[in-house]
Amino acid sequence: MTGRAFIPLIPLLNTRVASSRAYATGNEPHTPPTGHVADKLGRPLRDLRISVTDRCNFRCTYCMPKEVFDSGYRFLRHADLLSFEEIARLARIFVSHGVEKIRLTGGEPLLRKDLHKLIAMLASVKTRDGTDVDIALTTNGSVLARKAQQLAEAGLKRITVSLDGLDDAIFRRMNDVDFPVRDVLNGIDVAAAAGLAPIKINMVVKRGVNEHEVVAMARHFRGTGHIVRFIEYMDVGTSNRWRMDEVVPSAEIVQLLAHHFDLDPVEPNYSGEVAERWRHRDGSGEIGVISSVSHAFCRACTRARLSTEGKLYLCLFAGLGHDLRTLLRGSELQPAATDSQLEAAIGHIWRARDDRYSELRGPLTAPMPKVEMSYIGG
Ligand code: SF4
Repeated sequence: MTGRAFIPLIPLLNTRVASSRAYATGNEPHTPPTGHVADKLGRPLRDLRISVTDRCNFRCTYCMPKEVFDSGYRFLRHADLLSFEEIARLARIFVSHGVEKIRLTGGEPLLRKDLHKLIAMLASVKTRDGTDVDIALTTNGSVLARKAQQLAEAGLKRITVSLDGLDDAIFRRMNDVDFPVRDVLNGIDVAAAAGLAPIKINMVVKRGVNEHEVVAMARHFRGTGHIVRFIEYMDVGTSNRWRMDEVVPSAEIVQLLAHHFDLDPVEPNYSGEVAERWRHRDGSGEIGVISSVSHAFCRACTRARLSTEGKLYLCLFAGLGHDLRTLLRGSELQPAATDSQLEAAIGHIWRARDDRYSELRGPLTAPMPKVEMSYIGG
């Protein structure tokens, strides 16, 4: 600790968002982490999603519409991003509070240079009982074929690929950069060959755009071991002009699939799993549905999200992030925080958490400014 007095500081308000609750200054009373910290609804901190870039080479209409994220859009400067060392340091502290799974997201995480080096750092982090932290990554698959082997060798355990259709014209329209579907399919094959199987395939279903691709997706990946999850189109951020009548409820998707396949419901793998699971009766595989709109799962939500520039978000639909970077780096007004001060700050923030946006979604929440999904990852 330098000689300068430790001045309690209200963290910098993020210009991209609105209001919140418990600010942390790193001056909170420190109790050594116990591997278990619960929020106001009794939910433990188990999953950390880390956005490593706010940039993407796609312009998916439901996430990063071109008319907003155009050539004039100001993305973060490199100096604003957390370094790999800063991310790994924060990850260790989150793990000390009970995090068991770390998912790397973006934007498109594979656009971040040398990402395998970060994965190797995270792969060396152990939970309190000495087990490996489960490192996963979500990608649009555009450069996966080139990177899969390196990622697997660095310690990546699991991968999820976003794929919104098999029909090339529909896929190109949804990514809105004319990117061919065959390259993503090839990336999936290369990743599987590199040992990252089974791969989860996430398809966002938007009525009037790609719902007629649902059966084809289920048929294509049946028997491959990969698991397709159909995701309800969500009102993330404030850019995608979301409308409820463009949502295809999961019940409708399961009904549609049941016309074509013999499916049986399956118990979740663990408490808090977001996907509802269904298995092909002949054992040829599994599909899932993720129902944030029609069937909120906030009561079991154990996820925290760290933005690319070090803001901690407690919900995908949050209005504000807690500035951990200033605590990490210090400022004119305060020295950089120690590990125990960061532990105290993160514990303090999580304990004050009561987010449950999907349960509250409606006229009251509609006007709320929300952080962009491309900034904190899905
Ligand atoms: S809406 Fe927020 S609290 Fe609810 S499940 Fe999603 S991220 Fe968790």
